[in-house]
Amino acid sequence: MNARHITLGDFELTSVSDGLYRLDGGAFFGIIPKTLWSKKVQADENNLVPVGLNSIVVRADEKTILIETGIGNKLSEKMQEIYGQPAKLPENLAVAGVSAEEIDIVINSHLHFDHCGWNTVQQGGKIVPAFPKATYYAPEGEWLHGHMPLERDAISYISENYDPLVESGKMKLLRGDQEIVPGVSVKVFPGHTETMQAIILESRGKTACYISDLIPTTAHLGLSWGMAFDLFPVQTIESKKKYYARAVPEKWLTMFTHDPRVPWGYVEKDKRGKMLLEQGR
Ligand SMILES: [Zn+2]
Repeated sequence: MNARHITLGDFELTSVSDGLYRLDGGAFFGIIPKTLWSKKVQADENNLVPVGLNSIVVRADEKTILIETGIGNKLSEKMQEIYGQPAKLPENLAVAGVSAEEIDIVINSHLHFDHCGWNTVQQGGKIVPAFPKATYYAPEGEWLHGHMPLERDAISYISENYDPLVESGKMKLLRGDQEIVPGVSVKVFPGHTETMQAIILESRGKTACYISDLIPTTAHLGLSWGMAFDLFPVQTIESKKKYYARAVPEKWLTMFTHDPRVPWGYVEKDKRGKMLLEQGR
């Protein structure tokens, strides 16, 4: 199940990583005590845990789509000290045989810096699109929120990742659920932020969902296993319930944005109602 390549109906999905970064384990697991989360994830001497940055390339009919663009390479020195800046996406795209020019569409689930960093790069003192032919999509509510200087989460937004694209008309801001191209749509799941969107892929009766920070890793499957970064933690739980109500019985492939090892898998419910990753499928 850890293969980096999977077929979904007529679509080809490839998981590509921007590398690993580090977050405080306590913040990563919200209200869950360390005695519980440390059974699943090993923290280092500074209580930091490794966090993946998983993007997905979708070959869908005529279009090549990139879901999420990691941290990128534009972090300030201060932020690099805190989080690290792996900057592996370009080489991992190359290894997967995907060129920047091939990408027709880029979709960001939300605009936190660890989800849209490679939207743009610096070139000759200017910020330019990293995927020159792509149309970019992100939630309008995220863009508006990113422009509010809120003490709670202003650090999470770096305007160079999206403002130049919005100004040049390359980024389209979405209001709510909609289809981007046939079989590729977005659906808002509030909780982590108000307008964070999942990306849903459907082909020949098969469905996959990039659920982003609603369920960032396989260690976050439990309803109360949210992150301290969630702005609306009670809504995170409601959104997870809504997601599982469809994804489990309909056997959706769930894609995990921050799992350092497992890019995707099928979630199931055991007899006691506990959410688990289905093994050996
Ligand atoms: Zn994130």
